[in-house]
Amino acid sequence: MNTIIQVRNLTKKYGDFEAVKGISFDVYEGEIFGLLGPNGAGKSTTLEIIETLREKTSGEVFVNGFNLDKQPGDIKRIIGVQLQTSGFYPGLNLLDLINLFNGLYNEKADAMELLRMVNLEDKAKSKFKELSGGQKQRFSIATTLINHPKVIFLDEPTTGLDPQARRNLWELIKDIRSKGTTVIITTHYMDEAEYLCDRIAIIDSGKIISLDTPDKMIDDLVASGFERPKDLKKASLEDVFIHLTGHAIREA
Ligand code: ADP
Ligand code: MG
Repeated sequence: MNTIIQVRNLTKKYGDFEAVKGISFDVYEGEIFGLLGPNGAGKSTTLEIIETLREKTSGEVFVNGFNLDKQPGDIKRIIGVQLQTSGFYPGLNLLDLINLFNGLYNEKADAMELLRMVNLEDKAKSKFKELSGGQKQRFSIATTLINHPKVIFLDEPTTGLDPQARRNLWELIKDIRSKGTTVIITTHYMDEAEYLCDRIAIIDSGKIISLDTPDKMIDDLVASGFERPKDLKKASLEDVFIHLTGHAIREA
């Protein structure tokens, strides 16, 4: 297992407040690594430090062997960062937006090919503001791929999406990983983390309180004597919803 990201004793202070309190973890090449935790746990801060977008207070970070302190430019070149969707010019069409990014990154990515990958070919001439929530998220993921990154960072990519769009995005993320890209993702949806992530770090109040595969975490809890208050039914309400409304994505 090759390590692509190493984080050692990372801390971040905002004034007197320590948001990240000395965390350490490794991300392996080719995995989907989840960072889970309640609001304010320090997930976005941690990601943005690794992405070179935020200053750390102390600790060490290496990405693909590059030292964050000495080689931030090298790190930037090999990562893809999902921008908040509000970061796009709403009045430009998708082809124009990708070509704008091509210019910024000094790349020549085939815009139609990228749109095809995220299933937005027929929206090539649509303005960003005309897309549905799920389409906006798929487009923002497409833009992370422009520079053929080794690692992409997705900060709550499915928040606010309906169940169909969420599942559609899961398949896209799996697809990206299957082509060799390492994925770091944050989410508040545990079913999503269980389905997508090879390994998970649970972070609370700036500390990692558990790091393992979802399977191992669940088995450990069960082995500790934990029992669900009532027996789980064989389907969930979400299963009912998907069964009734189908898997097809709605782009209204
Ligand atoms: P998460 O992404 O897990 O919700 P964040 O990393 O965004 O958490 O925030 C962690 C903590 O740091 C929160 O208490 C938040 O209010 C605080 N925080 C985040 N950014 C700043 C900032 N720029 N200045 C001051 N405090 C901040
Ligand atoms: Mg956050």
